[in-house]
Amino acid sequence: MLKKVLLSTDVTLACVQHALSTEKEEIMGLLIGEVHNNGSVVSIVSSVILRRLDKKPDRVEISEEQLVQATLKAEELAAELGRPLRVVGWYHSHPHITVWPSHVDLATQFMYQRMDPSFVGIIFAVFLTEQSTKAPSVQITCFQSINEGSSQTRKEIEMEIINNNDSLMANNFEILTQLPVILKEEEDEAYNNEVGLTESEDIINKQHNDAVRTIAIGHIVEKMSRPMLEALVARNALNGVRLRALKKRHQELMAKMENMSCNV
Ligand SMILES: [Zn+2]
Repeated sequence: MLKKVLLSTDVTLACVQHALSTEKEEIMGLLIGEVHNNGSVVSIVSSVILRRLDKKPDRVEISEEQLVQATLKAEELAAELGRPLRVVGWYHSHPHITVWPSHVDLATQFMYQRMDPSFVGIIFAVFLTEQSTKAPSVQITCFQSINEGSSQTRKEIEMEIINNNDSLMANNFEILTQLPVILKEEEDEAYNNEVGLTESEDIINKQHNDAVRTIAIGHIVEKMSRPMLEALVARNALNGVRLRALKKRHQELMAKMENMSCNV
């Protein structure tokens, strides 16, 4: 039985960034990882961002096609790294609402769990404010469903966010940078649908649609691309400092070793 989930820091970063991309709709994605100890521990090392199929505020759905795509991505990573990676769960956001799974979430989770007993659900509640300090906060929960009569109840799964500096880091950065691209694709699609609907040459309508699209893309740049770039530049600077410190330590140790061999 599933006891614990280990979530890598980079996947957490990608999921939270994804969740923060919109406060109007729920976003979702799939989680890739491996299952250890006879299904009692699941470690999550990567994720797949899913495009919203149905832009209704409280609706999250995974299509067969998206599941197949994620499975292929997992197989690709598994072959690349020689590890038994596969789709191990799903995540979605709860903007402005409590972190706890809804009845629909529990039913969805139960359906996947029937096919795969170690399948997990993670929810990122975003755009919340800390009651005492009024600071913005993010809440995360990891859950499975238990069947009780005709409905399901939540079973909380212990989750630990771990810093595993392994070869998947580059892959997770790629996912992060894909985010603005996917969001822009969604806007383009909405724009094209709108333009397709109004065949007439109504200039006011056209101006309106163009303006809506421009605002939406400006929003993506302001809320997503720029903060992400700033965060990555800061991380790069920090890595530079670490690298210099490690190089210095390396030199010191090499000098020590030389001294030791001289003395011998
Ligand atoms: Zn939900």
